[in-house]
Amino acid sequence: MTPVTCFSGKTVTVFGLGGSGLVTAEALRAGGARVFAWDDKPAARDKAAEAGFAIADPLVEGLGGQDALILSPGVPLTHPAPHPVVLKAQEADVEIIGDIELFFRQRALLAPGSPCVAITGTNGKSTTTALIAHLLHEAGRDVAMGGNIGTAILALPPPDSTRVHVIECSTFQIDLTPSLAPSIGILTNLTPDHLDRHGTMALYAAIKQRLVAASGLAIIGVDDAYCAAIADQLEGQDHPLLRLSMDHPSRDGISREGTRLVLDGPDGQMVLADLAGIASLRGVHNAQNAAAALAAVRALGVDGDTIRRGLRSFPGLAHRMQPLGHVGRALIVNDSKATNAEAAEKALASFAGGIHWIIGGVAKEGGIAGLHPYFNRIEHAYLIGKSTPLFAGQLADALPFTESGTLEQAFAQAVERANASACPEPVVLLSPACASYDQFANFEVRGARFKDMAEAMTEFRPMRKDA
Ligand code: ADP
Repeated sequence: MTPVTCFSGKTVTVFGLGGSGLVTAEALRAGGARVFAWDDKPAARDKAAEAGFAIADPLVEGLGGQDALILSPGVPLTHPAPHPVVLKAQEADVEIIGDIELFFRQRALLAPGSPCVAITGTNGKSTTTALIAHLLHEAGRDVAMGGNIGTAILALPPPDSTRVHVIECSTFQIDLTPSLAPSIGILTNLTPDHLDRHGTMALYAAIKQRLVAASGLAIIGVDDAYCAAIADQLEGQDHPLLRLSMDHPSRDGISREGTRLVLDGPDGQMVLADLAGIASLRGVHNAQNAAAALAAVRALGVDGDTIRRGLRSFPGLAHRMQPLGHVGRALIVNDSKATNAEAAEKALASFAGGIHWIIGGVAKEGGIAGLHPYFNRIEHAYLIGKSTPLFAGQLADALPFTESGTLEQAFAQAVERANASACPEPVVLLSPACASYDQFANFEVRGARFKDMAEAMTEFRPMRKDA
């Protein structure tokens, strides 16, 4: 844990006790702060009370005289409307910050300038974050990974000049972190997502931009117009910058030639790595994630051989284009994390053909209309969940599909049809392009159910460990 001493002797309210909230309250208490805790859910309050925290509803008790409101990133700060507790804090002139802010203040006290990589972007954050941590680990470094992935940031060991913190940041977290100043900042890409929670694309992009603008070195994927503009702006300010491009040669950064990642420098080109045959990094989108990770660990001094070895041993992340194994001839791929059409597009683009595509759930605006260019790679689609009527309309006449209803039905039908197909390497792909909450608690539960079904089949053969 990282005890937060910068609030020693002060009074704070931690609002939102799920996920990172309770850890934050504990880190503040360990650092000597007087902590009040609140959550709208009684079960979360009970847990905090059991842990010995004073429970006080700031909407009833007020925040007057307190030094900070520590807000969970799940509580709306601005959109669709500020939560009443935000207005209450503003009225009382109490600053509103999050747990990553506490980490950066603590870092400024304990180990200013300690190595710290922060990662954001619409897609690819977790893969890039996990890959950076993996490569550093392979290089024998002391690594602490957390934030929006896995472990709450204050549950990690404290900042130290020899320890590298690798922190995934959501937009909501950046918005609550005015002192964010990573040594390396990564922005993978920007596409409209969660705009209901961010207002406009301009606002969403501006918040993401803060992470790279505040970094010592900015690493930016420039294949979308928003990120390209951000990179140009930083270049105009002489900010240290490395561009990543997967679809055109990069002036001063890393670009892609087939499966190879190439460094374009003033002295010409140098091949940094070849991703051919690395199942956990399949697809152009993963090449972008690998390029970002590679750029970051190179900047931290990891040598080329260690990087190339580390890329090959990266196990990948569960539910993100995760190859599970084969049933008969069919490769089974779990991409349950693809909760929007852009993410599903990356999955479809990763296979040349023979796709048996399981889709559906709670659709995002526009559904799958934009995925038409990939429909010729799909042999059959299997529709599940609430989006079935919408997707049936969007797929009509474009490709054959079955209204399967449930994931169980869809999986059984897809495995059977894939194995009967003429394609030599068919793929059963769960990449739903939808949120899961009509049928599952979350995308993890959806992906775990899919994995369980695959593993339960007698013909199932898992991936080889070195795949
Ligand atoms: P995040 O943490 O940003 O949600 P993940 O690494 O968990 O991203 O990947 C989520 C999904 O997004 C993946 O299953 C894949 O479909 C898609 N994806 C991953 N990396 C990228 C990328 N660089 N560009 C676009 N889409 C990506």
